[in-house]
Amino acid sequence: MISQQTIQQILSRIDIIEIVGGFVKLKKRGTSYLGLCPFHNEKTPSFTVSPAKEIYKCFGCGRSGNTISFLMEHEKYSYVEALRWLAARYNVEIEEKELSPEVRQQQQVGESLYIINAFAQKYFSDILFNNEEGQDIGFSYLKERGFTEETMRKFQLGYSLDQRDTFARAALAAQYNVEYLVKSGLVVVRDERPMDNYRGRIIFPIHNQTGKIIGFGARIIKSNDRAPKYINTPENELYVKSKILYGAYQARQAIDKQDECLLVEGYTDVISLHQAGVENAVASGGTSLTIDQLRLIKKYTNHLTIIYDGDGAGIKAALRGLDMALEESLDVKLVLIPDKEDPDSYVRKIGAAAFRDFVAANKKDFILFQLEVALKDAADDSNKKAAVVNQVAETISRINQTGDFTKKQDYIRQSAEILRIDEIGLQNLVNKFTRDRIEKQENRAAADARAKAAAHPAAGQPIIGEDGFPLDEMPPDAGMPQDEESLGLLFRHEQNEQGMIRMLLDFGLKSWDENNLVADYILAEAIDLYDLIDNKRLLKILDLYKNWYEQGLEPSTKSFLYHEDQELSTLAVSIMDLHHEISPNWKEHYEGKIATPEDLYKEDVLSTMRWLKLRKIKRLMEQNQQDMGRPHSEEELMMLLQTHKHLKDLERELLDGLGTVIVI
Ligand code: ZN
Repeated sequence: MISQQTIQQILSRIDIIEIVGGFVKLKKRGTSYLGLCPFHNEKTPSFTVSPAKEIYKCFGCGRSGNTISFLMEHEKYSYVEALRWLAARYNVEIEEKELSPEVRQQQQVGESLYIINAFAQKYFSDILFNNEEGQDIGFSYLKERGFTEETMRKFQLGYSLDQRDTFARAALAAQYNVEYLVKSGLVVVRDERPMDNYRGRIIFPIHNQTGKIIGFGARIIKSNDRAPKYINTPENELYVKSKILYGAYQARQAIDKQDECLLVEGYTDVISLHQAGVENAVASGGTSLTIDQLRLIKKYTNHLTIIYDGDGAGIKAALRGLDMALEESLDVKLVLIPDKEDPDSYVRKIGAAAFRDFVAANKKDFILFQLEVALKDAADDSNKKAAVVNQVAETISRINQTGDFTKKQDYIRQSAEILRIDEIGLQNLVNKFTRDRIEKQENRAAADARAKAAAHPAAGQPIIGEDGFPLDEMPPDAGMPQDEESLGLLFRHEQNEQGMIRMLLDFGLKSWDENNLVADYILAEAIDLYDLIDNKRLLKILDLYKNWYEQGLEPSTKSFLYHEDQELSTLAVSIMDLHHEISPNWKEHYEGKIATPEDLYKEDVLSTMRWLKLRKIKRLMEQNQQDMGRPHSEEELMMLLQTHKHLKDLERELLDGLGTVIVI
């Protein structure tokens, strides 16, 4: 975790024009900047960046956000990755929050492995381009396969010498630790001697989404060798096979722009397609697709197209994971490459444009394709046929119902047609699988809730609702009758609640009186504020502000604008949008006496606080009146009457105060 101090430091340095301008060519237009939108294809610029508001907005596709969301969207960084990138850019030293010893240890190992991998990549590339054996064997092999030097450099390819321990000795001479070298898979220890693991191989570095190297694939060149064709990095702190998509780093922007991800089998397929200009291709590394890989794809697009060469074992494996793709609402298509070709050879043969046309024209639906294959396989065996029907019903039942209702119906109709069975019968079967799955999920959730309750008896038993979920949170605005107030008044309250928080963010660090800041005043009333503000999300902002302020930080609108929690950051933006700006009418009204909200902040804070308190008093009075209506003793009645008088006095006081400030 990055400490809040560091985040503040980074945020204070952000210059949105400089950062966004690094990716998009911007031209100054009045107070803002204009460029061609990087998120959709356009010929006339509609992508606007406002340095004053620190936000961007595209009037073509509607995407908008701040510097961090730009990096998250454009570079596919996570929030933390975007912060780290900015920290490196602005030379801000990252201070980490206290971590558990295990996490710290894991992070340190990870960092060391990154450094070793970066060293190894440079080492192997240097050999490929500058060493005699590298040139004669590695470079000429890649040339023969049709790769240009530019492509080799883009993918940072390398070559490992066909020798016992040249790399190991170089790494040890550079002071790298043997234990980590072994963990990285680059070195093995035999008879207590560190030796090279990759010998006479082409080295394919594998990058994570930020371009750092997490491992390698090493392909042997000599075909007569009994050694395995590929050696990959063993699983370690960085290299987690189930999360890797080869080429995702190089392909990420093309996938985003074309709104389609092509999945091929091998490293060289990816590289060939890129070289030909088909840059939205990645490889799964020959395993069945995992949920992590599917989610990674989903970060960029909902359209996955698998390029299939008929007998590629890797693609067959990939197909096995695809039921999960349906649950993730990914739209999956298959394209079969003609006989005896693979994507690598085929794109070379026909070129990028024809390849794209071929893919577009030959996409087959994944479910129907599987169905046809299974049906052919079953032939006349009626038992096998029944199994196929069950299988397809099960698969269709996984389609995410809420998003894809018509899609589901389409599948049922088309599958019934292919199977030559009754559509309603198939529909019923699909419904049965859906019901079974929901039942299973509910049972699991209820069991989880029970386990949780048993594990934390001290925290008080959570109340379990009839649906098996704990009822730990009341719905917002519970207990406030909706017809109590007119809509206008509700709106007024909403505005006042937001206004209070906005003033805390905008003016919190300005002076209130000789000894206090505005934040001191507002937070001193904060105990009351929890009663005064209904909106739970606004209260969350208040909580965070209080927390940061008490730590001696200087929270502002910006701290929330850039908050990791997207809901909070959106709320902060919407509060900002409500900002009164000085309209010409307003100025006129005050006849030249230019009073900005800036100058009036104390009065604003006071009057908003009064409004909120007034509402609270009204609620208390209603409560009090209800109590009077219930049976009570004389003594109780006296108390209730006294309370009523006290509340009335408070109300009058507040109304008087409002009268002096509120002009309306
Ligand atoms: Zn756009």
